[in-house]
Amino acid sequence: MNKRVYFDYSATTPMKKEVLEEMLPFFNIEFGNPSSIHSFGRQGKSVLDTARDKIAKTLNAKSDEIFFTGGGSEADNWAIKGVAFANKAKGNHIITTKIEHHAVLHTCEYLEKEGFEVTYLDVDQYGLVDVDDVKNAIKDNTILITIIYANNEIGTIQPIKEIAQVSKEKGVIFHTDAVQAYGNEIIDVIDLSVDLMSISAHKVYGPKGVGALYIKRGTKIHQLIHGGAQEKRRRAGTENIPGIVGFGKASEMAYENIEDHINKLIRLRDKMINELMEKIPYTRLNGHPTKRLPGNVNLSFEFIEGESLLLSLDMVGIAGSSGSACTSGSLDPSHVLMAIGLSHEVAHGSLRLTIGDFTTEEDVDYVIEKLPPIVDRLRQMSPLYEKVKGGNK
Ligand SMILES: *Cc1c(COP(=O)(O)O)cnc(C)c1O
Repeated sequence: MNKRVYFDYSATTPMKKEVLEEMLPFFNIEFGNPSSIHSFGRQGKSVLDTARDKIAKTLNAKSDEIFFTGGGSEADNWAIKGVAFANKAKGNHIITTKIEHHAVLHTCEYLEKEGFEVTYLDVDQYGLVDVDDVKNAIKDNTILITIIYANNEIGTIQPIKEIAQVSKEKGVIFHTDAVQAYGNEIIDVIDLSVDLMSISAHKVYGPKGVGALYIKRGTKIHQLIHGGAQEKRRRAGTENIPGIVGFGKASEMAYENIEDHINKLIRLRDKMINELMEKIPYTRLNGHPTKRLPGNVNLSFEFIEGESLLLSLDMVGIAGSSGSACTSGSLDPSHVLMAIGLSHEVAHGSLRLTIGDFTTEEDVDYVIEKLPPIVDRLRQMSPLYEKVKGGNK
């Protein structure tokens, strides 16, 4: 059996053993509904509070500012639609960027159909937003600014504190999708001065289908789901107790040794980037060289096609992801790679390899060994590459 190595931690992470163990009793033994008065219910209520405390602590937030959701996408939807509809009387203008996750981008597009006006800011060649562009885009009717903390494709980390400061000065609500940054960055919502922040459990070695929205006290936002009184009447529905318990544990663990985690990932990331770029000609690094997620490697190899590269890598057991097409199987290149100025051809030859807690040096060495000959073989089939190579002689 071939070796199998996982380099897709930005898509999802395996749950930690300790997280699973903590969750298990809540499926059958401690199954009480937290809304019930009896002892079974009270137990559910107390674990809910514990998980909320743990997550609040990792963000330097207050417990009553953490609202559980069904994941990162739901938190993004809630933040954006909830603020838009609650502040309609004040204005209808929203500012975002061209490199958001689809959970933000498609929500903004939906709001445009509902009569809101959205500005999609450009980014520079590294995927960075210019704080002055944010400032200049703010108008009298601007009610919300939503900007991704760290990009899921190219890993670029935005100047969130500066952007939040600008929003605050202008009295505009600021939301950030921190799903990728959470567990990979030290985050302090007070210091950053953000109003809303989305996070998700399955990107930090927790379960899928659970996330949270940080809502700063006093932020004007509509409730998400109407029904029972859960989540302070803002998100009705019996809580996903096992999931929330797992999220609490995963968050706690993610921040226990955050510096070690970051340093380990950065070392492996930079080794991979440097060695691959040295071994493979006509390669570019996408995203910012240093202001980037500790586990993100995103490279474009000219003259090849990302999909065939992924398939070849899969044959030797390497699981990565391509920047060329979205999950729907569409052939449109990634909106993020387009926004940083890549041509369609170069964007199509892109590969994202993301590193996480279970990645070993051996795994990285395996990629450094296997990838260059695969790229070379695929390029031999490219008539364009033959021409360029010939011309260079
Ligand atoms: C994964 C991800 C999401 C979606 O989170 P889910 O929990 O899968 O819904 C949103 N934003 C970013 C940046 C992500 O990486």
